[in-house]
Amino acid sequence: MIIALDGPAASGKGTLARRLATHYGLPHLDTGLLYRATARALIDQGYNLSDTAAAISAARGLALTDFKEETLRGRDVGAGASLVGAIPEVRAALFEMQRAFAHRPGGAVLDGRDIGTVICPEADVKIFVTANPETRATRRALELKERGEKVDYESILADIRQRDALDASRPIAPLKQAEDAYRLDTSKLDVDAAFAAALAIVESHVGAK
Ligand code: C5P
Repeated sequence: MIIALDGPAASGKGTLARRLATHYGLPHLDTGLLYRATARALIDQGYNLSDTAAAISAARGLALTDFKEETLRGRDVGAGASLVGAIPEVRAALFEMQRAFAHRPGGAVLDGRDIGTVICPEADVKIFVTANPETRATRRALELKERGEKVDYESILADIRQRDALDASRPIAPLKQAEDAYRLDTSKLDVDAAFAAALAIVESHVGAK
């Protein structure tokens, strides 16, 4: 079974994807890490984030085993990921890796922006996870605070709005709900309630098949 979760930053899709993967015993890929690792490579090698050729070469050189997740979660890397994610050749370089992961025997859970629309339109279940920007900014602020980063709610909210606009307006693989995706708004749900809702979606869908 392939489960695709898409949605904007801090919507809760990553947490839901991890919990669904554990529940069903499936491997999980947070595809945002691929874009984050590409941005991180540019930062580490001293390239400008708008250097398209360097971004393409960094994406082509990535391997799934390269990730040191703790170095990829920062705010600067998230913003950089959004910039490199708008480059068509970067997306093309990361495409096969994601498809191969999705088609592992037994299936997989993937979360990102374009899993249900571009990477895996044939996914068995698609969930578009969303929440209002204020709720997402509050969650992201808490997450960054726990990582020891200095946080300012207003600037995080501004970041989130800017990232939403960039991700939704880019010509290639924009963030949008697949026609056959279930919409799950987590604004008023805590983690357990959101997981219960996601599980109910998957179960109803699998049961109906
Ligand atoms: O989900 P996360 O916040 O880690 O993603 C970081 C950025 O990577 C997103 O803002 C988006 O621009 C990009 N991304 C993408 N496609 C994906 C996953 C992430 O373009 N499948």
